[in-house]
Amino acid sequence: MYSIAIDGPAGAGKSTIAKMVAKELNFVYVDTGAMFRAMALYMLDNQVDLESKEAVEAACGKITITISYLDGQQQVILNDVNVSGQIRREEVGNAASRIAVYPPVRTKLLELQRALAAKENVIMDGRDIGTAVLPNAQTKIYLTASSEERARRRVEQLAQNGVSADFAEVQADIIKRDEQDMNREIAPLRQAEDAAFIDSSQMSMEEVVEAIIACYKKNQ
Ligand code: C5P
Repeated sequence: MYSIAIDGPAGAGKSTIAKMVAKELNFVYVDTGAMFRAMALYMLDNQVDLESKEAVEAACGKITITISYLDGQQQVILNDVNVSGQIRREEVGNAASRIAVYPPVRTKLLELQRALAAKENVIMDGRDIGTAVLPNAQTKIYLTASSEERARRRVEQLAQNGVSADFAEVQADIIKRDEQDMNREIAPLRQAEDAAFIDSSQMSMEEVVEAIIACYKKNQ
């Protein structure tokens, strides 16, 4: 099996780019953030205290996450319910970042992530794919962009969905999430030693896709 790992901070465009690369190479796209989001959704819906390690750990025992594909799109199933639509909310992303610091949360998802990569050629995006989940991935990418550019893209995306957002607020949120993800003890976000670094601030999506496919071809 061939694995491409894409890590990077929130809003770097990982999922959009990974989907495009998956299409081109006929790989399966695996969005690991969605799995953390599904666990966070359970915690929010069940009023689990996110500051309490014990409460989060107890909740982990009540959660089953599975992945399926519908028309080639990843679906996340939380305790038999497809929650793929509900997990996109900003509140859920922020809660995901808060619970992602706890070992039981990460351990639970690690097995699922590795099982998916063992069975198909995957392009998997997240924060710790190249460093912890798939250390033997044949191609590793660290994709980033300035926080200004990431916030600008996010505001634009929200506007397209008819939601108006304050640029400064969105940027502050992004910076806070980066800080949380980069400074946690377990599996923090960082560039793997053997990952290619791509700063997409001044690049088009097509250019980024091309750069990743060039890395893949080089590592084949
Ligand atoms: O990428 P996305 O915004 O969906 O991820 C939500 C949160 O889940 C991240 O901010 C991060 O804290 C956590 N996450 C993680 N490891 C991954 C993927 C996501 O810790 N592999």
